[in-house]
Amino acid sequence: MSENLARSIQHSSQRGGVLVSWNTTNACNLQCSHCYRNAGQMAPEELSFEEGCQLLQGVKRAGFRVIVFSGGEPLLRPDIFELIAYARSLGLRPVCGTNGVLLTPETVARLKEAGTAVVGISLDSIDPEKHDHFRGVDGSWQAALDGAANCRAAGLPFQLHTTVFPWNYQEIEALNDLAVEIGARGHHVFFFVPTGRGRGREETIEPGLSEDLLARLLERQARLPIEIKPTCAPQFLRVARQKRLPSRFQRGCLAGISYCIVGPQGDVYPCPYLDLKIDSIRRQPFDEIWKNNEVFLKLRTEQYEGYCGICAYRGLCGGCRARSYAETGDNYMGEDPLCLYKDEQEDQIRPLAEQVIIRLQSGLPLVPKPFKALGEELGVTQGRVLRAIRWLCAKGIVRRLGAAFDLKSLGYTSTLCAGRVPPDRVQAVAEIINAYPGVTHNYLREHDYNLWFTLIAASEEQLIHLIEEIRRRTGIGDIISLPALKTFKIAVNLREVAIAPHASQSDSQVGGNCSCSAPASGHPLRN
Ligand code: SF4
Ligand code: SF4
Repeated sequence: MSENLARSIQHSSQRGGVLVSWNTTNACNLQCSHCYRNAGQMAPEELSFEEGCQLLQGVKRAGFRVIVFSGGEPLLRPDIFELIAYARSLGLRPVCGTNGVLLTPETVARLKEAGTAVVGISLDSIDPEKHDHFRGVDGSWQAALDGAANCRAAGLPFQLHTTVFPWNYQEIEALNDLAVEIGARGHHVFFFVPTGRGRGREETIEPGLSEDLLARLLERQARLPIEIKPTCAPQFLRVARQKRLPSRFQRGCLAGISYCIVGPQGDVYPCPYLDLKIDSIRRQPFDEIWKNNEVFLKLRTEQYEGYCGICAYRGLCGGCRARSYAETGDNYMGEDPLCLYKDEQEDQIRPLAEQVIIRLQSGLPLVPKPFKALGEELGVTQGRVLRAIRWLCAKGIVRRLGAAFDLKSLGYTSTLCAGRVPPDRVQAVAEIINAYPGVTHNYLREHDYNLWFTLIAASEEQLIHLIEEIRRRTGIGDIISLPALKTFKIAVNLREVAIAPHASQSDSQVGGNCSCSAPASGHPLRN
């Protein structure tokens, strides 16, 4: 088991999740153009009341504290009050995410009676016309505000939810103020991720604007009496640290770490915007999925790629996994394209990376913590050395760091063998050869002698004995041994290199001090 996987499993078993969203239905009374669920009609075979209760039991067993009942529009589900009451009876904290249109005094009273802790109401503009246009139904702005007033009158806590687009970007502070004015306990500002009906829309704000808005929201949070929370722009915690602004949150992206979502038919996703169905609660209980699913385990390793992989804030922020997935089409561990920090990181890291790559070529200090020792030599911390190395790897400048043993000085001997093997026997013969612990490489080549391998032994006699044994066991008599008579060590030392700004793996591999005896080409059968 890899160290990362072990850490990930420990992570999930030690820390229960925080929050699960359940899209209780696909039915919706509005037609919002950004909807990630393409909501409208009820989906076929949505989870029944009994299945919903089993889900809630699994959520409880998995150690979650909060369950968000969302949709579609959850208030269109006839048994929503019973489900909320059941969640409450299990000791969960039920939250209801709604567009607010159906929050009549009677409905609010029933929600309160069922044990709802907070209601989240979507409001995208201070201008009723803009909101109604975006939500696709006239009067929805006023209905949402009436719903908020009904919650306030009934003493049911509520917060506002706004999704940021270029068209409402300038209104966010005014919406913060409106939230304070109408008695909301918070204003959660969602940064749009292009999925669902919103997929492909050029509706995402530019990274520069997003960075600016995050800073403004954090500053407002320090001054306003309610919680102002940027959501799905996990960089907000990096911005908070950089600007020394307070935030009570410990982690940016929660997907798979302490959050996930269940769809109306029981399908499980790491988050609403990460369009990757990973399992179904109709196949196995929710808590088993949460504990064991390989996508969740991978997300918990926090081993990101690209700039998120070398970022000093990666444990705090985590980058948006959904944006990485949407950008690449298949990689949820890549860098978050919304983050501007990469330019800053590039400027900071390049000079150190240049020093590190020069120093690495003369070998690592032979001490228990070589990277710490290297950092002391260069006047930086071990963490910065490791970041520089990760950056070099991410850029393709360094392909691999590995130990090289000088076999001769350790008393071993080796040879390169070449065998003439009938094509239909190659696989069987290769399997016999590969089972020898002294075989390090095994290659198929287009030559009369088509199978090549290296063999290491403790002495010349043992080497001869092993080759004889291989001939006998494989039935291939024509195996020749080509021992190295002289060793030529190729040392490529790059001095005062300027690392090309966009070096790629193909044009810039550094093979410092390479003395590998492996064949240069061919298909590896063992490597
Ligand atoms: S992956 Fe992105 S959208 Fe999903 S929870 Fe994380 S930050 Fe939010
Ligand atoms: S590079 Fe990635 S981990 Fe670092 S702040 Fe940006 S999004 Fe977060």
